[in-house]
Amino acid sequence: MGKTIIISNRLPLQINITDKDIEVTPSVGGLATGLKSFHKEGDSIWIGWTGLPQEEIPENLGAEVQKKAKKENCLAVPLTEEEIEGFYYGFSNRTIWPLFHYFMEYSEFEPDDWEMYKKVNRKYADAVIEHLEDDDEVWVHDYQLLLLPKLIREKKPNVTIGFFNHIPFPSSEVFRTLPWREEILEGMLGADLIGFHTYDYERHFLRSVKNILRKDSTFNEINLGNRIVRVESFPMGIDYKKFKKAAIQQQNQPSSENSEFQKKLNYHKNSTSNAKLIISIDRLDYTKGIANRIRAYGYFLEKYPEYQEKVRLVMLAVPSRTNVPQYQILKREIDELVGRINGRFATVNWTPIWYFYRSMPFENLVDLYSSSDVALITPTRDGMNLVAKEYIASRIDQTGVLILSEMAGAAHELNEALIINPNNFEQIVNTIKTALEMPEEEQIRRNKILQKRLQRYTVERWAKEFMKTLRKAKSSRSSIKAEQLSTDKEGDIIEKFRRAKNRIFFLDYDGTLVNFTDKPENAKPDPSLLDLVKKLTSLPNTEVVLISGRDKETLGTWWSDVPVDLISEHGVWMRPANGQWNLTENIRCDWMENVRPVLETFVDRTPGTFIEEKNYSLAWHYRKADPELGEIRANDLSTVLKDLTSNHGLSVLEGNKVLEIKTSGVNKGKAANKLLIERKHDFIFGIGDDWTDEYLFNELPEQAITVKVGLKETSARYYVQDVERVRDLLERFSKV
Ligand code: UDP
Repeated sequence: MGKTIIISNRLPLQINITDKDIEVTPSVGGLATGLKSFHKEGDSIWIGWTGLPQEEIPENLGAEVQKKAKKENCLAVPLTEEEIEGFYYGFSNRTIWPLFHYFMEYSEFEPDDWEMYKKVNRKYADAVIEHLEDDDEVWVHDYQLLLLPKLIREKKPNVTIGFFNHIPFPSSEVFRTLPWREEILEGMLGADLIGFHTYDYERHFLRSVKNILRKDSTFNEINLGNRIVRVESFPMGIDYKKFKKAAIQQQNQPSSENSEFQKKLNYHKNSTSNAKLIISIDRLDYTKGIANRIRAYGYFLEKYPEYQEKVRLVMLAVPSRTNVPQYQILKREIDELVGRINGRFATVNWTPIWYFYRSMPFENLVDLYSSSDVALITPTRDGMNLVAKEYIASRIDQTGVLILSEMAGAAHELNEALIINPNNFEQIVNTIKTALEMPEEEQIRRNKILQKRLQRYTVERWAKEFMKTLRKAKSSRSSIKAEQLSTDKEGDIIEKFRRAKNRIFFLDYDGTLVNFTDKPENAKPDPSLLDLVKKLTSLPNTEVVLISGRDKETLGTWWSDVPVDLISEHGVWMRPANGQWNLTENIRCDWMENVRPVLETFVDRTPGTFIEEKNYSLAWHYRKADPELGEIRANDLSTVLKDLTSNHGLSVLEGNKVLEIKTSGVNKGKAANKLLIERKHDFIFGIGDDWTDEYLFNELPEQAITVKVGLKETSARYYVQDVERVRDLLERFSKV
């Protein structure tokens, strides 16, 4: 395996240029931590911008910047002020950022900014291509580089590319307002794997691809004809240990060693009985709902005056994108609001809001997290929100209440927080009261669950899962070796069929002879299908076998008038044409130890699912999960189980909202073999659409004609596009 190339707008570096020297220090943000294990010496390079415009780097120091960056395995993409203006402040932050956060009225559609965005994406692409070898893995990050996957793919078609979008992906109705929507989607689709924080963003993206590019997806895979793009959600975690450790250190410190800031916080806490601290920490951004939060806090003090002089809001607003006009307006609004509320409620001993417009060093951040009774996080939209997670991680005594907006990606995972709608003023106010009055046992009960989850799904795990899935996406791509069944090839096969003396067809049912429907019971064979199969069975020396996962009752009823052999439940039951059903069974359960942990990881990642353990089988139920997420995960799980269970005589049955792994040692391949042993055939044809048919393809003799329906990973020799093509093909056979 080659190296990993990570690309993000900014390098994980801080560069300081003093009089003549350059100081380069690695930064320790979430992304840098998560990618630590990949970004080790020699294993990877990180490509991005230093944060300084070219004009601010003296010409004679340019090479030195590169040299120092290289020491950290980084490569700097130089950007001029003009490029930064159009690409970063312009298209990234005045078009994409507001649009993707549903601030449509803020979104500017400036053709010049778009041109600059394309130009700078190409610049990043050139830097990548210069260092790229075929077996490298590329991981592109975030909304500034949406075009990059395609630009890289154009030059290096076989390279493995992952893309992760760190901000929301909006509803397709919002996304479609973008004048350059096709180019943006196509840019992203250059990747093999596209990752989002939540399943909703994933769903919005798939819908946009479908509506705008008219490309269909099966579950979470977009079939581009020559390539498959996988789309998945990976909620980014935090460096849990780092926050926990810092909070423990802070707690164990003698008070004399406390930071000045901590002393101030303690002072408030000791100023009166039952004093409480509420924190609010964000970048100063209009997506964070800061102004509304302050208003809600003001209203809270008015509605519940008993909290005046007891409660204090410590508000940290980190300066951000200060040259974008909306941020300047917001800054003024917040200054004014804080002033108004402090002016109205303050007493000689108490200011209701402590407001800091700056960033704080890590230690002070931990002081804040660990000293506050409530964290009030109310963004109107937020891709994830790490502050919410960091607050929980820092609560070492497990007290503290998190109030979190349902519009933050993190809300999907942090169900035990007090979840609010940031636009529901009354709800926020009442929830602040609930939080302040929540009994300690309840706080602990909730935080225990939250901490357990955050501890398990850390930022490192997030990065690992992404890379693992990327590698899987790559390997499944390379395993599609089936040849498309051309008309010429079809002619040869028909000819072979004509000359054969003893012929047999193995036909899968759902997804092969009929399309899937909303309800399985609706996929009854239509008269033309019944007629088609009947015609096939009436050909001389021709046996037709329907081989399905369906239960024997349904198959038996549907096909009662057609003299066709039936194999049901993936080979559990067999019924010769006009004969009786027979059962085959072979019970073993030593495989359970290996399969159970796999099911457990799916339970972890899919809320609402559970494992049922039976005597001879394990079942994973997803009826109570989010319906669409459940389907996607079920699809993933069956792929995983297929890898795990092949060659072990296990079969995985797909039930109604349940996947069941059986010990029966029965599968379509074995069932087919039983029929092949009885008689010698010189023409064997097998066709099917899903992985249960792979057993059939694998078991059939080498000379058999095996056909997969759809471009998917398969060991079949050929593939055809869809059910309509299958029926055309069978029609041709029936006319021989
Ligand atoms: N943060 C920081 N210094 C500060 C305030 C916050 O480094 O003074 C960090 C904080 O620990 C968190 C990040 O900034 O990791 C903010 O991430 P989040 O996902 O909450 O919001 P974003 O800024 O990415 O929209």
